[in-house]
Amino acid sequence: MVQRAPTAEEILSTVRGSDRRVTLAKRTVVEVLVRARGHLTAEEITSAVQRLRPEVSPSTVYRILEEFEELNIVVHSHLGQAAAVYHLAGAVHGHLTCEHCKQTIEISAAHFDALSKELQKAYGFQLDRHHVALSGTCARCRDNQRATR
Ligand SMILES: [Zn+2]
Ligand SMILES: [Zn+2]
Ligand SMILES: [Zn+2]
Repeated sequence: MVQRAPTAEEILSTVRGSDRRVTLAKRTVVEVLVRARGHLTAEEITSAVQRLRPEVSPSTVYRILEEFEELNIVVHSHLGQAAAVYHLAGAVHGHLTCEHCKQTIEISAAHFDALSKELQKAYGFQLDRHHVALSGTCARCRDNQRATR
């Protein structure tokens, strides 16, 4: 099931509800995350925030991202070798990364249902569907490989 991504106001009410302060910097980070709807590194989030509020320091943005992770507002994933990327928690899905062209394909987390159940049963292991991408070769790169062979 694909969950609807939360709105900025819903996210800020989660912050307030956890007895934390809503600062202008937090509000700006939320704005950036809601608008992005994609994968952003902490560095990209910082420069987007600073475009709106130049006075917000990178360390403030990093602290806010940590706090938001604790509150389950954002999650991060690792797509290949690059820096971790951040998502709003409502938009969680799986990731496939092509080892050749480095593109990332978002897939429904439901693809992991059967595997998840099996791993749970066989190893008592709980799979995190989102944290790390599966690597492989995308359809286009496979076509190119076949063509050159
Ligand atoms: Zn991680
Ligand atoms: Zn590829
Ligand atoms: Zn993603």
